[in-house]
Amino acid sequence: MKEERDRFITEYMGQCWHDYDIDKPINTYSLEAYICKKCKGFILGNNDFTTEEDFQRLWIWAKEQKNMADIVAKFDEASFKGSEAGINNRDMFADAVYTRLKDRK
Ligand SMILES: [Zn+2]
Repeated sequence: MKEERDRFITEYMGQCWHDYDIDKPINTYSLEAYICKKCKGFILGNNDFTTEEDFQRLWIWAKEQKNMADIVAKFDEASFKGSEAGINNRDMFADAVYTRLKDRK
């Protein structure tokens, strides 16, 4: 788990790092969902930037940041696809973004 990294990046992106009771899911159809105590949103969980779906949000955001251009340029978008090499590359990219943001603080 890279929760601290994912929380830091999520909040830097201006999004809510959801606060919810993991023990109290609301069962809807086949999904377990939660209500966030902070934004009151109906959520499935927090960002995990090693997943393809959440990673897309980070990648799109990072491409818009001028100070991330050198990091973005080091990675090939196609390398983020898939479950094996893709996970490693997504993880490495999130680490690079996290390091950059921490250094700027
Ligand atoms: Zn929230």
